[in-house]
Amino acid sequence: MKVTLTTNPKQKPDSSKLGFGKYFTDHMLVMDYENGAWKEPEIVPYAPFEMYPATNVLHYAQGIFEGAKAYKTKEGKITVFRIDDNFIRMNNSAKRMCMPTFDAKVVKAALFELLKLEKDWIPTEPGTALYIRPTMIANEEVLGVHASHKYKFFIILSPVGSYYAHGLQPTKILVEEELVRTAIGGTGEAKCMGNYAASLMGGENANKKGYDQALWLDAKEHKYVEEVGSMNIFFVIGDEVVTPQLVGSILPGITRNSCIQVLKKYGYKISERRISMDEIVDAYNKGELKECFGSGTAAVISPVGLITYQGKDMVVNGGKMGEITSFLYDKITGIQSERYPDEFGWVTEVK
Ligand SMILES: *Cc1c(COP(=O)(O)O)cnc(C)c1O
Repeated sequence: MKVTLTTNPKQKPDSSKLGFGKYFTDHMLVMDYENGAWKEPEIVPYAPFEMYPATNVLHYAQGIFEGAKAYKTKEGKITVFRIDDNFIRMNNSAKRMCMPTFDAKVVKAALFELLKLEKDWIPTEPGTALYIRPTMIANEEVLGVHASHKYKFFIILSPVGSYYAHGLQPTKILVEEELVRTAIGGTGEAKCMGNYAASLMGGENANKKGYDQALWLDAKEHKYVEEVGSMNIFFVIGDEVVTPQLVGSILPGITRNSCIQVLKKYGYKISERRISMDEIVDAYNKGELKECFGSGTAAVISPVGLITYQGKDMVVNGGKMGEITSFLYDKITGIQSERYPDEFGWVTEVK
């Protein structure tokens, strides 16, 4: 693989002030698609892309991305968490968006070279990681609306701390009763750029009212829970852990799947099913809504302490992180950091 090193390495940020997605490492991976085939991946210095104003992704959002994390263990080993699942999902997203799929083996090997090159950028403090952002964009200079003939794939890396400024403090979510993120038949299942553009207004409305995120309901009846901003959602109702089933408009989160596998293995009752706001309000009124949390690569597990729906505040678990939420957070971050054995085969050493 061709590697062009930077002549101008950056100063690494203080790992206590990382935040999320603010700093980028010295190099990135790029791979272009032209004339029906992917070219060889290359490592180049992190730098702006040159593109024409007519480049089609800028107009029609034919673009997809992924989010994964790399870690450095105490012994200095580099590891990645469930990275194969990210590439499988990215190829699924590519199909939905009429983009070319890629050979995950080639891309994974190239990513590993990039991670080895950037290993000094991997932060080691608890709660930190090197965030991996694979992206693919339509890259043809044409305004006609059809699938592009040229694409650019790239991977950038960002040392990150906690996703939310307030760390593991429970978040406040506002149920969005009017706007929708996506509908069945739409692109909700794909990790594509447009889904995020569509969700911004709900998120901003929630932020303006003092909430961290909006909770999306289904597009047809505005009744069933789908997910929050960039996370899947779980509720503990009585002794059942429930998460919305993947009906087509919900992003199939890898962290969501990790939670389900851990809960099953440790004997919890976990269901993937449709869950209505009526059921949640009812459970709350009966004192059975025990816990609520979001799951996603960025935040891992994020406790929810307040849900507001139809003007009514539901304080979950006294606004504190619950037992099952803590168990999952500890278990999953423990496997990621090798504090616990990798009993699910989720961790790969980069060598
Ligand atoms: C990425 C994403 C998630 C979380 O998926 P993970 O694989 O767990 O990171 C959830 N919802 C949406 C809309 C997403 O884009």
